[in-house]
Amino acid sequence: MESRVTKYIFVTGGVVSSIGKGLTTACIGALLEARGLKATAVKLDPYINVDPGTMSPFQHGEVFVTDDGGETDLDLGHYERFMGTRMSKLNNFTSGKVYETVIANERRGDYLGGTVQVIPHITDEIKRRIKLAAEGFDVCLVEVGGTVGDIESLPFLEAIRQMRSDVGAQNTLYAHVTLVPHIATAHEFKTKPTQHSIKEITGYGIIPSIIICRSNQPLDEKIKNKISLFCNVSPNCVINAPDVKTIYELPLTLHNEGLDQRIVELLHMWTGAPKLEPWIKIASSVTSEDRTTVTIAMVGKYVDLTESYKSLSEALIHSGVATDSKIKIVYVDSEEIERSGVESVVRKANAGELVDAILIPGGFGVRGSEGKIAAAQYAREQKIPFFGICLGLQIATIEFARHVAKLSDATSAEFEPQSSCTVIDIMESQKAVHMKGGSMRLGAYPCSLKEGTKAREIYGKPQISERHRHRFEVNNSYREQLEKAGLVFSGTSPDNVLVEMIEIKDHPWFVAVQFHPEFQSTPKNPHPLFTSFVAAAKSAKTQGANTLKKGEKSVAGRAARTTSSNSDVAVGNES
Ligand code: GLN
Repeated sequence: MESRVTKYIFVTGGVVSSIGKGLTTACIGALLEARGLKATAVKLDPYINVDPGTMSPFQHGEVFVTDDGGETDLDLGHYERFMGTRMSKLNNFTSGKVYETVIANERRGDYLGGTVQVIPHITDEIKRRIKLAAEGFDVCLVEVGGTVGDIESLPFLEAIRQMRSDVGAQNTLYAHVTLVPHIATAHEFKTKPTQHSIKEITGYGIIPSIIICRSNQPLDEKIKNKISLFCNVSPNCVINAPDVKTIYELPLTLHNEGLDQRIVELLHMWTGAPKLEPWIKIASSVTSEDRTTVTIAMVGKYVDLTESYKSLSEALIHSGVATDSKIKIVYVDSEEIERSGVESVVRKANAGELVDAILIPGGFGVRGSEGKIAAAQYAREQKIPFFGICLGLQIATIEFARHVAKLSDATSAEFEPQSSCTVIDIMESQKAVHMKGGSMRLGAYPCSLKEGTKAREIYGKPQISERHRHRFEVNNSYREQLEKAGLVFSGTSPDNVLVEMIEIKDHPWFVAVQFHPEFQSTPKNPHPLFTSFVAAAKSAKTQGANTLKKGEKSVAGRAARTTSSNSDVAVGNES
């Protein structure tokens, strides 16, 4: 069989962090796939943690989980949302992981007699891992984390520099993402930081042939020409990526700047024109003002950092596309709920108004848990569409146990390990686990859906596969009691040992899942659970269910009105 020559595109970043290098990489992948190429992407993270699994969301944002159970950087989430290729553990590695392998090799005696050094041993391991991830693809995008000039990224830059002579200049391309700031008082864009950044990376022997300039407004030709002249790239290789209304516009912006065309030319690839219709549709739908706004309260403790719930907020946006609604997420601090009560905190977070739905996302630890339980109770009693994800399922179960099944001490072993009423308990397989990193129940597992449930109706099939990241589960010794009280276990592991989904009847939409459906939602394929949830929220709203005026406390009336909308919430069934 003819072996495929893989082309490599190395993406580095300069000037400042957080300029969207990951998104840019993902969009390049999307454009190349739209041209019919088989593309993948790898994120190289220079920090020492073996993976981001042990890092707090405050430090690092969301941990993205792959099908094969990798706890990875959130950029892999961008890759999966923009590209058709599914990521795996191979697509993200850190300095920690590279050193771990090299040190293990050394202990085994693989380098006997040799001095183990950054060059060649660390750089060789970096290159080995990149090539492994690239196998079988036409193009492999390699994004180097951090900003040029960081000490810890030097071995990565050296490795990607060497790749050019390893695989050939015609098969490698370096793209540098920089910031071109606009100085308001001078009414001018400034190119100097970009010039310095290019000078710096060139000093490491890497010569970018494409410069992607982030800016808050479009750059004019004069500025682009200046960057071209001072940074040694052709004028048409200075690509401008000004701020966009939605990230889903970015593939089109980059295409209009000629980026994908330049890339295929520079890498000597022949492809047809890209098929961009899906992106045109998605971008126009996300930016359309002509949609009903659906307001969703996300109740958690990491409310300061939207990055912690990246996949979740994107999944909701995708469902906005599917249901023709504009998603407004209000972040509600569960600890504040503990102090001031659900309704007042929700109203405070939403300019005095109630919300159309409540979502409790994944999370860890006891802090803020009572506030989350109160939010779940409020949603259940007030018949507000409710979606619980991972910890959200555990919270909803505890709430139901306490207030419906009359197990007033119900809690989770995570919150109160000594409690005698742990309706949520540590998983059997987790009892022997003592190492924190990579040891949760991770990755995709099958789940069987019970006939006649909302879950089964939403997915439209008896078995699904979803990704997990947890240590605790519904305690089976309480299952019968909870079921008798009305809790429906709509999804379980095929052997029926683990509860994967719960729901309650006589409620417009109350579903919780032990897995993380947000990791599988893409703008091209919005996840059915999110779509159904948003549709339910929209339907409740348009039927006037959530129009309680400030101070109005008509719980019963409100409940009656929302319940009547029950049948309208199936996926794609709203008008
Ligand atoms: N802390 C809970 C557990 O480990 C939930 C985890 C999560 O929400 N990802 O089971």
